[in-house]
Amino acid sequence: MANLRASDDMRQWLETLVKIESPSGHAEGIGQVMDVVAEVLGDKGAVSRIPTPAGPMMEISRGQGGALILAHADTVWPLGTLAEMPWREQGDWVYGPGSLDMKGGIAIAMAAIREIADSVPYTFLITPDEEVGSDDSREAIEDAARRSRLVLVLESGMPGGAVKVGRAGVGDYRLHIRGVESHAGLEPEKGASAIKELSHHIQWMEGLENKVLGTTLNVGVVEGGTRSNVVAGKAWAHIDVRVTTRSEMERIEATLSAPPRFDARCEVVYEGGFNRPPMEPTVDSQQWFHEASHIWRQATGQELAGVRVGGASDGNLTALLAPTMDGLGPVGQGAHARNEGVDWRYMEPRRQLVQELLIRAGRS
Ligand SMILES: [Zn+2]
Repeated sequence: MANLRASDDMRQWLETLVKIESPSGHAEGIGQVMDVVAEVLGDKGAVSRIPTPAGPMMEISRGQGGALILAHADTVWPLGTLAEMPWREQGDWVYGPGSLDMKGGIAIAMAAIREIADSVPYTFLITPDEEVGSDDSREAIEDAARRSRLVLVLESGMPGGAVKVGRAGVGDYRLHIRGVESHAGLEPEKGASAIKELSHHIQWMEGLENKVLGTTLNVGVVEGGTRSNVVAGKAWAHIDVRVTTRSEMERIEATLSAPPRFDARCEVVYEGGFNRPPMEPTVDSQQWFHEASHIWRQATGQELAGVRVGGASDGNLTALLAPTMDGLGPVGQGAHARNEGVDWRYMEPRRQLVQELLIRAGRS
């Protein structure tokens, strides 16, 4: 099943894509990434471009139903990165900004779509803002998922080629506390320290964690007070919350919306929420995982592992709407890091896996 031409094509497309800088918010670079894809796939489906405040979004589709391939054109790398971190090939590896996350995934999708018969329906959606939370593409992603039988997210795979069958939901909260200021020496009893209240909340939040279910709350930033001789009137904290199940998400949301006050004179507000709900395996997604394992075994002779990870992706948005498989993209190292690169030996097996899943999801 290995296909040298497809592999050469992917190499060339990936090089072209990596050499276009497309940080989130840079509409021009993001548009150029889409130009490359549209040129290669223009005869394989109807191409529509949808402008959004975050930059252009592009959908290529054919027929009804079938699988939805989800990819994002934006990277975390600012303009100019390519000068210090150029495209580079070494042995079985290729390196460059965005190569793993996720231009390699776009190249895999392009090759898979070129290989399938014209009778296979599919939708390929490329968004401009995944790395900044997908605010402007969320609706389009959810719409496309509802129309699809299966969602294939081409984020990078895990070591050994493992795919992602579960992802944490991520909450972003700010805790604002207003206390009562007073002189720390003359009338401390008249004050209600926002910092003391904050310290109670830090302990209290630790009690909300559930290590077994994978619920964590990390107080990453705190700030408060004005001077050492003033009982602090204000304090705040920035909190990252991770959950792996929807019921845990709902528990945290409900609890933080009605927080305790350890000193009744303080005002306490938790502001924020979950940007993406958790991606949980479902009966249907597990069935598709079995199909994928079978295809992978045939392509590589290896077992396909399915893992749950802490980071979120657009797969979090689709998992409730259609069976979703994530981490089907390239395998490598250093997403968001200076040594970002792709292990080329996985590219052909990945192309075969995505291609075969497209075909199976396209059967009515
Ligand atoms: Zn990504």
